[in-house]
Amino acid sequence: MLSLMRLKRWIGRAYLGLPGWRGALRRRGFVLVLHRVMENDAEAAWPHCSPLCMSKQAFEHLLRWLRQHFDCVPLESLLESPIGGERPRMALTFDDGWRDNAELAFPLLQHHEFPASIFLSTDFVHDDRHPPRCFWWEAIGKVFWQTPQSPVARRVCDALRSCDAPVPPLLLSSEASERRSLAIARYLRGLATLSPEKLESIAALTPAPLQPITLDWTQVRALEDSGLVRFGPHGARHAILTRLDADLLPRELARSHAALRARCRHPLPVYCYPNGDHDDKVRAAVAALGYRYALTARRGLIGVDSDPMALPRINVSYASTGLLAQIAWYLLRSAWT
Ligand SMILES: [Zn+2]
Repeated sequence: MLSLMRLKRWIGRAYLGLPGWRGALRRRGFVLVLHRVMENDAEAAWPHCSPLCMSKQAFEHLLRWLRQHFDCVPLESLLESPIGGERPRMALTFDDGWRDNAELAFPLLQHHEFPASIFLSTDFVHDDRHPPRCFWWEAIGKVFWQTPQSPVARRVCDALRSCDAPVPPLLLSSEASERRSLAIARYLRGLATLSPEKLESIAALTPAPLQPITLDWTQVRALEDSGLVRFGPHGARHAILTRLDADLLPRELARSHAALRARCRHPLPVYCYPNGDHDDKVRAAVAALGYRYALTARRGLIGVDSDPMALPRINVSYASTGLLAQIAWYLLRSAWT
């Protein structure tokens, strides 16, 4: 039997094929969010990677599909005017500031002359004077996936147990199975409730990456100089902003704000909340720094009536197979809402 999701995708796909479909749309645009672009599907496909990764082949397919159906515009242009002309408007964003954004995604953006925005967690921007840094979920996930029976994995396990986050035995077996990868993904999601200090101290138990995995400021400047890419802040240390106290929140925001202003020629007036989490206190603190817009992780379309400090996006990754037709379904539905 056809599932509801498959039916929506089928309708969405059929809808994009209809002549005159654009005329039926209400006035909505959308923002896509990606994280990492990998060399191939094999790297992007494991469940503990797939929600944040996409192969460069899939990325190029996405760019072509978007060009075919939408007006692909810079983010600030879409936010200022989400109403399209004949075709709906869309903008592309990347979160965190991964090095593959410059090495694998950017050549394709250049080839297709496709604008994009990258939101940096500024403490993680690589600096040659220090060892490469790694986000906690990447560091912990890598240890469990690649060296589950090593002394490092045991130390990480002990530290997690002391934080009331005992590691399920499956994570420490050596099988390279989908089941274990899925269990790692689930476990990492649960860890997001721990404090940033705890997560950072546990990630610090793992070896630094041999090569930088995040952008450096020279790359940031080169991408900005291309005229295709602009940058905005995504926290300083990628802390969940709603969990920071009255002392830490302004410091986290101010540090990310200052880094972008010091290093970029034209930083975006757009803040991107890590994990999408925000509340009234966070919104007020972000607005007080002069940001006119803020992006969340909630899925949805953007219209002239959208809340500028809580704008939705649509996540795209290896895990969202079939999502392209699903986007068409959302657009179609927006014609009646
Ligand atoms: Zn992020």
